[in-house]
Amino acid sequence: SQFKVHSINDCIHRVISLLDSETARLGHHIEFNASPTPIHMLMDQDKMLQLLLNLIKNAFEAMTEQGQVRIRLYQADQQAVIEISDTGEGIPETELDKIFLPFYTTKESGTGLGLSICHKIVQDHEGTMEVESEAGKGTKFTITVPVSQPES
Ligand code: ADP
Ligand code: MG
Repeated sequence: SQFKVHSINDCIHRVISLLDSETARLGHHIEFNASPTPIHMLMDQDKMLQLLLNLIKNAFEAMTEQGQVRIRLYQADQQAVIEISDTGEGIPETELDKIFLPFYTTKESGTGLGLSICHKIVQDHEGTMEVESEAGKGTKFTITVPVSQPES
């Protein structure tokens, strides 16, 4: 794996543009709110892209009607916080502690591997990932990772 200092802002912009045509096809919207100063972290960029893609794909799959994905990026002390929320079907409280388990899926053709891979990626970046959800309203994933200074 390739750990280098990269801008998280750039990474999020890349994922959003990778998904551009699918987002439009599905009629969803992705909104990205970040502070104007880029936030950097030591990352395996391919893995971080995979993490964000997995979470946004899940969000899309949870939104049967046209939906909104909101991504928020900010810094708190020496941590970068990435929040990804959707207006999807939500996750019942009784299921919340199972979603990170490998092979847990509620989808007909799901693998149930996406979130366990996400969890591993976050752990490999010394970070944490939390989920909050309300059935019928939506879901929010919060990823916290240590920031790095940009390389000059
Ligand atoms: P898969 O997408 O193949 O089902 P994942 O590991 O990505 O596997 O997700 C596991 C399960 O967690 C999903 O089947 C779904 O029930 C739930 N889930 C994940 N993300 C969301 C979300 N944004 N909204 C609602 N449910 C979700
Ligand atoms: Mg998935």
